[in-house]
Formats: sequence, structure tokens, C-alpha cells
Amino acid sequence: MTKPIELTELHWLLAITQSIDVGVVVLDRQYHVKVWNSFMENRSGVAPLDAHDRSFFELFPEVDRAWFSTRVENVATLGTPSFTIWEQRPYLVRFDNYQPITGQEAFMYQNTTLFPLRSANNQVEHLCLVIYDVTDVATNRRQLLKVNQELQKLSSTDRLTGLYNRGHWEEALKFEYARHVRYGNMSSLIMFDIDHFKKVNDTYGHPTGDKVIQSVANVVRELIRDSDICGRYGGEEFALLLPDTDKAGGQILAERLRQTIESMTVKHDGKEVRFTISLGVADLARPLADHKELIEHADQALYASKKGGRNRVSVYG
Ligand code: GH3
Ligand code: MG
Ligand code: MG
Repeated sequence: MTKPIELTELHWLLAITQSIDVGVVVLDRQYHVKVWNSFMENRSGVAPLDAHDRSFFELFPEVDRAWFSTRVENVATLGTPSFTIWEQRPYLVRFDNYQPITGQEAFMYQNTTLFPLRSANNQVEHLCLVIYDVTDVATNRRQLLKVNQELQKLSSTDRLTGLYNRGHWEEALKFEYARHVRYGNMSSLIMFDIDHFKKVNDTYGHPTGDKVIQSVANVVRELIRDSDICGRYGGEEFALLLPDTDKAGGQILAERLRQTIESMTVKHDGKEVRFTISLGVADLARPLADHKELIEHADQALYASKKGGRNRVSVYG
């Protein structure tokens, strides 16, 4: 037999419940509120007397009724507690967030615990719901995640153009080549280089040269498919990997790129620049020793375009 709680102790317990920084709610099996501590009062604006005997769902219409009822029934039947964490469900009841440090979040992230309260006859006629404010933890975690994603992006993209940098692009090519070896799918590669770019820099200045490089990247982004992978291969050299496309398809895109760039004017600092590109196309149709050989083939085709007078597309083989 446990010793019955004395009146003083009961008062202590009540005082503790009122002063702790978590929400405490006791519900009966009909979801009527029986206990409502000051955390709940402060965050919801509903006084304990007004909350008493009101339906939990009426007080918090945002609560997913079917889901919460199932949870309550399980706790009552099994007699064991149940927990939810903010990663699964950001909150159970919607409270505004007004913590000074994490002010950018609109609402309070919550973990919750639900456990059975047994009456003298050992029946579970009530349940206690505890709500923890975990906004700080959630915000930190989410910010960390965001920073990590940005770092990941920074390490794989080229600053000037936003295209993949050479390292990341080559990894993608390696992956695509492995896919080809295993499944035999076709892919093609376009390598291209701006014609007489030294002259652009010399005539208009380096910043205008940068703008030209950025404009080329923008044209590429506009013309390619989501599945195509474009990288800045060198200073004014680009590499465009086209999965599931043969060199005939690659040639069509290459020609479209060539024409678009030939007909556009880049404006910068009151200057107007017109320029052209030379392109080389190769694909995986013939057996290769490794992925680098595909680059060599496209490069050779690019060299043929340069040699042939520039502003043109050449296809390897
Ligand atoms: P070609 O038609 O044979 O390609 O002639 P080209 O003048 O373009 O020759 P090349 O490829 O040798 O010259 C590339 C120039 O691009 C040299 C370099 O100073 C310039 N360059 C490389 N990276 C950048 C960059 O990020 N910004 C600017 N503005 N210029 C760059
Ligand atoms: Mg060049
Ligand atoms: Mg070059």
C-alpha cells in the first residue's frame, strides 16, 4: 500500500504544476479538460476556469481529431505512455512563438507526452497531456540543415555562373558513364568554348568578360532539360552532359545554342558585346575505355570547330 498523499504535499504538487515551463492538461475520456496549468493559460489566453470541462477539440480546432483520438485510445487501452516529436508533427496545438531568440518562427514547436492516470479502481478514466516547447531546438536544427544544404551547393557550383563546377560535373559524368556500362543507356556530351574571348576581355574589360560568361550560362539554363547537367569546365569553356540523348540529339541542341548566342547582344556598362561559340559533340555509341575518353572525343570535335573557322558545331567520328 502506498502512503496517501498529505494535503501539504498535494499543495506542493499543485504549485509545481503551476510553475513549471511545460503545458499540463488532464482530460477525461470524453476529451473534457479537467486540469489546465498556467503554461496553458499563458500561451492560449484561456483561464483555467474557462477551460474547465470544455472539449479539447473545441479549444483547439486545429488538432487532427482522428489521429489524436486513436492516440488517446491506445494510451488508455494499453496503459502505457505515448510520445510525439516535432520532427513528425511540428506542433499538437498551435501557439504563437514569442521567444526573443527564435522570433523568426511563427509558431511554437512541440514535443508531447500522453500518459494514463489511473483512478482508485485502477481504471484509466483520465489522461495527462504534457506539452514541451522545443522551438529553440527545432530552429537550431533547421538552421543547421539549411546551412549544410547551402554549403553543399557552394561546394558543387561555380560562383560566377551558378553552374556546376568542374569537379562536381566530372563526378556526374563518371556516374552517368557507370550507368551506361551497366545498363547500356545512351548519353551525349557537348563541349563548347567562347570564340576569341581574349579579345572580349581586352576590348571591353574583364568585368564585361564576366558578364558574357554569365550570359552564356543563362542561355544554357534556358535551353536545356532539367535532366541535362551543365558545368563550367574552364574559364570560358563549358561542358554539357545530356543523359539518354544520342549525338544526333546533341547536335540539334548544340546548333540551337550556337544560333541563340550568335544572335544575342550582351549589354554591360553601356557597352554592347556580340560574340560566338564553337562546339563539339560526342556520344557513348562506340566503346570507350573510361569517361575521360568521352571528354577527349568532344574536345577533339570542338578543336575541329575552332580549326574550321569557329562559330560552328562538329560531331566526333
Ligand atoms: P579561341 O577562339 O581560340 O577560344 O580564343 P580565346 O581568345 O577564347 O582563347 P583562350 O581560350 O585561350 O582564352 C581564354 C581567355 O579567357 C583567357 C582568360 O584570360 C579568359 N578568362 C578565363 N576565365 C575568365 C573569367 O572568369 N572571366 C573573364 N573575364 N575572363 C576569363
Ligand atoms: Mg575561347
Ligand atoms: Mg578556352
